[in-house]
Amino acid sequence: MDRRGDPTRIMLAKQGYHLIGLGAVKPCLWLNRSLRGEDQCYKHYFYGISSHRCVQMTPTLQCNHLCLHCWRPIDDSMILGDFLEPRELLDAILNEQQRILSGYGGSEKTDLMKLREARKPSHIAISLMGEPTLYPYLKELVDEIRNRRMTSFVVTNGTKPEVLQIIRPTQLYLSLNAPTENVYMRIANPLGKLWGKILESLIVLKDHPSRTVVRITLIRNLNMEDPLEYAELLEKAEPNFVEVKAYMHLGRSRKRLGRENMPSHNEVMTFAEKLAHTMDYELSSHVPISRVALLSSKERTNAIDSV
Ligand code: SF4
Repeated sequence: MDRRGDPTRIMLAKQGYHLIGLGAVKPCLWLNRSLRGEDQCYKHYFYGISSHRCVQMTPTLQCNHLCLHCWRPIDDSMILGDFLEPRELLDAILNEQQRILSGYGGSEKTDLMKLREARKPSHIAISLMGEPTLYPYLKELVDEIRNRRMTSFVVTNGTKPEVLQIIRPTQLYLSLNAPTENVYMRIANPLGKLWGKILESLIVLKDHPSRTVVRITLIRNLNMEDPLEYAELLEKAEPNFVEVKAYMHLGRSRKRLGRENMPSHNEVMTFAEKLAHTMDYELSSHVPISRVALLSSKERTNAIDSV
């Protein structure tokens, strides 16, 4: 069905989302900066990802959470549309990325060598917005990305452990933003009782063949009281890495949270240091501008090998 006249879709398009079926691609600000020969995203410093060769996309705009800190410019959890088959979706996403890049060719500020590199994307970040495990062909999409010799990150809210069991991205992220069910209910506003699913997903992570990351977004006065409570949950997952990141007061989240809910980089570091100490992980890197710290288990090196 043609849904181009749908007001939600029109609003998303105005905000820079290039919509494809129920999915989308959006150039992030670090792509822009990297193409100008400026700074790169923290994932460059943590894992060696080149921001100008990274495609930020989602296979579905739908989500089963409505998190207070979410930047998504939509307030209802579900939006309607059709799922594309994985090859068709990936082709359309990559074509759209080429169209986005063509806009940089005429700018004097563009580093032309980087633009040439950007035309051959090396990494797909399935993390834009929405919950990717609601896309019924996520396994096939991730496999297709690998077949095309690109690396992939999948960021999930952990509510579909059965999907995590079968996907094999280069790096699998679980966003864990609450140490208890009470805090989870307040922050995530889930559609249903899903906390038990998140606990199951933590266990799935433990023996997962992909590199694993648990990401904690800290929101001042809401979920950053006690790092030790998180450590107990993280023990179930034994992830290779933990990213501790400040909530950023951006997008639609500004309607739900205040600027005062945004912790400083020092607060992030204090929390991360306590967590690292409790878990016996190494505080291996941090990027002040993004207010993020990386904790590494001692068995894994940070840099990602290409496919
Ligand atoms: S799980 Fe992610 S996409 Fe869904 S509401 Fe929360 S932050 Fe937004």
